[in-house]
Amino acid sequence: MNLDVRTIMVLFAMLSLLFSGLILSAGLHTRSINSVKQWSIASLCIAVGLGSAYFFPTPTANAKYAVLLGTVLITTSIALQFTGIQSFKSGQVYVWPAMVFVSVATFQTYWFEFIHPDIISRTVANSLIFSIGYAACASETIVRSKPKFKSISWLTSLSFALLSLAMLIRAIVLSQSSPETYSLYANIPINPATFLITCALQLCVTFGFLVMLNRQVMTEIEQFATRDPLTGAFNRRLLEEEIAKLQSRSKRIGDKFSLMLIDIDNFKSINDNYGHLNGDEILRGLANIVATKIRTNDYFARYGGDEFCVLLPSTDIAEALIIANRVREAYASTSFLVGGKVIKASISIGIVDSSQVGVEFKTMLSAADQALYKAKQSGRNKVVLHTTACITG
Ligand code: GH3
Ligand code: MG
Repeated sequence: MNLDVRTIMVLFAMLSLLFSGLILSAGLHTRSINSVKQWSIASLCIAVGLGSAYFFPTPTANAKYAVLLGTVLITTSIALQFTGIQSFKSGQVYVWPAMVFVSVATFQTYWFEFIHPDIISRTVANSLIFSIGYAACASETIVRSKPKFKSISWLTSLSFALLSLAMLIRAIVLSQSSPETYSLYANIPINPATFLITCALQLCVTFGFLVMLNRQVMTEIEQFATRDPLTGAFNRRLLEEEIAKLQSRSKRIGDKFSLMLIDIDNFKSINDNYGHLNGDEILRGLANIVATKIRTNDYFARYGGDEFCVLLPSTDIAEALIIANRVREAYASTSFLVGGKVIKASISIGIVDSSQVGVEFKTMLSAADQALYKAKQSGRNKVVLHTTACITG
């Protein structure tokens, strides 16, 4: 292949600089800002590592330092891509494998450049180390990735796996070369081939990171628009959208659904006795408990203040009663430890189903509200059904 390796390296460096800027600008407004910084610096490391080739037209004595610096920068870039993926997925980063990885590569490069010069051993060992690093990135990207990132995680992971394979092939090919014919700029096919393939795959990895960040930003915007920031429950807007869907389904196929209105008992006095911030914790506690007691296709929303609403699709009032009592009992039996104080609280619940009052949101809400009022009147910590005024709990 008649391509100048040094030119390819410098071009790859310039592209990496572009990747670095792209990742930084695409991800500045996401909560995954740590990953953004790590991925962006990773591309910057590649840019500096490969770009240094510009200053070394031929292998010289000083090039030894450039090789050492290049190795440190390239392994650091792989390590940062790895920790960036960890941070993106869970926010939890294990730094020590990355540090061991960079140290081993640095040590072996130093050894084979300065102590016991052996260019083939150094290059083969480095290629193997890079291969291991990329394989680790491939598995970290795909293992336990969230469903909404699944397809892009596969693409990114595949790019890392191919990078790993390319480095493995480079190691195998170079292990059969002789030190007389090999140098970094030598006009042998493996050199330009490795840099071109690596550049193309790094482009795919960068594309993968950009799409992952874009999905993350979209998710955050979606959450902002549909969730109550204090409790994480859906907001009233989404509740109204969901009830509209249930209404049309009910009109189409006659499917019943239930609505549950939940209100914390004597919440004003909790605020008065323990303070507003501790009161917030009691609200959050209710949201957490409800989330564990309802089904995945039920909708739990904060209606306002200490009032919450649960929509239960394909559920009649008898089934809703069982769920409501489950929630009420769980909440009443929980002791909240807030600000060093133990707080106990209870809730009252009013329930109605669409077969009783029709599917209009306002009518259902008003019926559930009347039932809730009865629950308060009859001593609180109760579940009351609309119409029959049957009180349980
Ligand atoms: P009842 O048993 O009849 O429901 O009595 P209550 O004291 O709970 O009365 P009500 O439901 O009317 O009180 C709602 C209180 O919730 C009033 C308001 O100060 C408080 N509140 C509303 N939003 C928040 C909030 O975001 N955080 C906190 N800590 N309190 C809130
Ligand atoms: Mg209340």
